[in-house]
Amino acid sequence: MRLQMYIDGKWVDAGAGGKRAIINPYNQETIATVAEGNKEDALQAVASARKAFDEGAWTKKPANERGEIVHEIGRLIRASREELAELETLDTGKTYSESLDDMDDIANVFIYFAGLADKEGGEMIDSPIPGSTSKVIREPVGVCGLITPWNYPLLQAAWKLAPALVAGNTLVMKPSEITPLTTVKVFELFEQAGVPAGVANLVLGPGKSVGAHLSDSMDVDLISFTGGVETGKKIMQAASTNVKKIALELGGKNPNIVFADADFETAVDQALNAVFFHAGQVCSAGARLLVERPIHDAFVNALVKRAKNIKLGNGFEEDTQSGPLISAEHRDKVETYVKIGQEEGATLALGGRRPEDADLQQGFFYLPTIFTNCTAEMRIVQEEVFGPVLTIETFNSEEDAIAKANHTIYGLAGATFTEDIAKAERVAGQLRLGTVWINDFHPYFAQAPWGGYKQSGIGRELGRAGLEEYTETKHVFRNTTPVPLHWFK
Ligand code: NAD
Repeated sequence: MRLQMYIDGKWVDAGAGGKRAIINPYNQETIATVAEGNKEDALQAVASARKAFDEGAWTKKPANERGEIVHEIGRLIRASREELAELETLDTGKTYSESLDDMDDIANVFIYFAGLADKEGGEMIDSPIPGSTSKVIREPVGVCGLITPWNYPLLQAAWKLAPALVAGNTLVMKPSEITPLTTVKVFELFEQAGVPAGVANLVLGPGKSVGAHLSDSMDVDLISFTGGVETGKKIMQAASTNVKKIALELGGKNPNIVFADADFETAVDQALNAVFFHAGQVCSAGARLLVERPIHDAFVNALVKRAKNIKLGNGFEEDTQSGPLISAEHRDKVETYVKIGQEEGATLALGGRRPEDADLQQGFFYLPTIFTNCTAEMRIVQEEVFGPVLTIETFNSEEDAIAKANHTIYGLAGATFTEDIAKAERVAGQLRLGTVWINDFHPYFAQAPWGGYKQSGIGRELGRAGLEEYTETKHVFRNTTPVPLHWFK
């Protein structure tokens, strides 16, 4: 496969010759060496996207034709699902079966947005002024800068690439510098599907240079970013240079509320998935468990018993249930948080250390970790750890559960488990979250919007709202019987 950047329809090395080794977090082996760009490469990619937008061939193409190309990308991703999934597992350490599911979701995202291409046109509105017509039309925003994280490398990219293309924008994509491989591969598929030169450009390199330049460039009209809240704040500031539109998908500290009347086994099983899936490196991880007091002890016992058995290992082996953390630095961060939790007085009920198994020593593994006796003000409860670390609090009433669940700067997603559907709906209505799951955790799909309240972000991805992010709204008013007004005599 190519290991270069893709600018103006050509595969290119970094201008200054930069290279970066991409490391497998399972064994620290180098998987590939890719081009590592800098600000100059970002400048060229933006210039290419600007020219392609201003010359207008892609933008002026009938929407259904853009949809056909995007549909073809989805088809090619389906056809390459194994190859892409293998790259994703090598790059992130996640299990191969998870990566296959990701690839199916990604193909669906392209196919879903392709289907919307010619269905989100303008609308006539009733003008209150006699002798006039009034219509609202949707137009592309312009040049879009797309910046993505390492935890779901291609999935997060797909949520941006597909709607940006369908809406008629041109773009510069910058994946996380540590997990670029599947995004590079997909740009090969873009070329095969017939995306014209200059429309979709790919730059590789660090956030501080390449990403920061996309954010403050005067030639970029919209920046869509997925990543941490502190980076999101920097991007907001940088985007103010030309008052860019911004879409931010940031972190979460997502509550999972289990009432005493919930189906016990389902709630335990889902609480495990909620937090330990992909070693907790999920923006919507259910890392903050709130259990109604009467079932607390039984719930913790059941959870600890199951979590002990989670099999860590090589993502390509069938019995592996969870892979490593992404990097040594990230594991250091998780370890620091566990130490903070202990110093704050939370009780370590499970884990809190690296595994001792000989075959896991080369990877960045960390054991599933559970803290009990947590209180709302603790940093371990408030801050995003982004690892396999669960905090457990108790609550005494519906109001108490809602207040505790909402007590954080974040508002991405969360769940409630109860057999009382009226109660579930009441709780869902009061949670300040972009997504609420009832008796489930984690489902997301192309058709439904995704995004955060509060400091979890701005804007929405997926669903119709996810396409609107990439459009400008124009009102066109026509006087059908023009005569002088004589306002000024
Ligand atoms: P990060 O913020 O460190 O980096 C994300 C991307 O931003 C990378 O491509 C990085 O190179 C780039 N970047 C870094 N500094 C930059 C700067 N100054 N200007 C422009 N770009 C810059 O995040 P991460 O560690 O890669 O990912 C983990 C975070 O992502 C978590 O907080 C997680 O919750 C969040 N996330 C959110 C969602 C969501 O849908 N809300 C989904 C996935 C991940």
